[in-house]
Amino acid sequence: MIPPGSTLGLLGGGQLGRMFAIAARRMGYRVYTFEPSAESPAGQISDLEFNAPYNDAALLRKFASGCDVITFEFENIPVEVLHQISTTTPIYPDAGVLYICQNREREKNFLREHHFPHAPYAVVRSSSDLERAWQEIGFPCVLKTADFGYDGKGQRKFTGPADAAEVWNSFNMPAAVLEGWVDYTSELSVVCARTREGHVQAFPVSENIHTHHILDFSIVPARIPEPVQQRAVELAASVADSLKVVGLLAVELFLTTDGRLVVNELAPRPHNSGHYTFDACVTSQFEQQLRAVCGLPLGSPQLLSPVVMVNILGDAWKNGEPAFDRLLQDPLVKLHLYGKADPKPGRKMGHFCVLGKDADECYRRAIFLKEKLLA
Ligand code: AMP
Repeated sequence: MIPPGSTLGLLGGGQLGRMFAIAARRMGYRVYTFEPSAESPAGQISDLEFNAPYNDAALLRKFASGCDVITFEFENIPVEVLHQISTTTPIYPDAGVLYICQNREREKNFLREHHFPHAPYAVVRSSSDLERAWQEIGFPCVLKTADFGYDGKGQRKFTGPADAAEVWNSFNMPAAVLEGWVDYTSELSVVCARTREGHVQAFPVSENIHTHHILDFSIVPARIPEPVQQRAVELAASVADSLKVVGLLAVELFLTTDGRLVVNELAPRPHNSGHYTFDACVTSQFEQQLRAVCGLPLGSPQLLSPVVMVNILGDAWKNGEPAFDRLLQDPLVKLHLYGKADPKPGRKMGHFCVLGKDADECYRRAIFLKEKLLA
């Protein structure tokens, strides 16, 4: 057990790390952040921020030697970094988990090997592979880069055959996955925590609404039948168990028009759709991550209130500072800003949670408040 007062290391300095650091400092831990750019959202909350590229072995050693345990908030960290750190300091989730989850091909192969429901897919490494994959998977389908994809970046949908050579050249990536289109009624996610002893605890299912491929609203409880919620939680917990992750695992799911659950993506870290837990659950996903990586007992994931989380993107600054005062006129709103200086369009700058009596009522107020904020 790594007790309060110890030093937690964090690889990555974004908003997920910032909220982890807030949870950690609240419980009396010290936090060191390793992040390429200075004054990062997590660095602002940390005791120390180490700024260098992830392959700076000397600074990584210095960082790791000051930490009792290390975790990460960002998936695109080279696995060699985790291997290097693990020779001196425990790191959770481990390099094997990151290796699978940071690459779509390996992630899909993992799902297939463990018989978890997933969209049909084919691996593509050339334009002739792409021709073959279109024939095998059919249309509509979506081509996704194997590495470094997020928020719909590095994706292209096809409703019929195209010029494979042109498509593959414009992708300019060594590997991709062609996925069959899933007809879904809702996008869902479940964040689970798993301890070193294999104890798994899942947060309530979130129903996620995306706009331009970026998460816009997370609605909890998800407006789907209770038995489906139960199945989603069991499926996510079972994936976390098979992966033997220590820490968090976010499982993104589609609920298909014929009532099946299909795993879309895995993320071994806190997830944007789990931000609601900070304001609406007994234990937040960030505290749960801390508890899991420190070997503490997990906290209760119980939902204390229906809630809708709304992302605030850089677009909200297009006419100057957003009207936060109008948002806060609703006393059941909780505002989170990430301390980012540069509000670029599409950049996640903060979020707010709307608490209320049921999911529909929270969602109606969330839409209204978002409009008010941007007006
Ligand atoms: P991803 O980066 O894989 O999470 O995909 C981004 C978004 O694209 C998802 O949230 C879905 O809205 C959509 N999408 C991705 N893959 C599929 C698929 N196979 N079928 C239907 N929609 C998809």
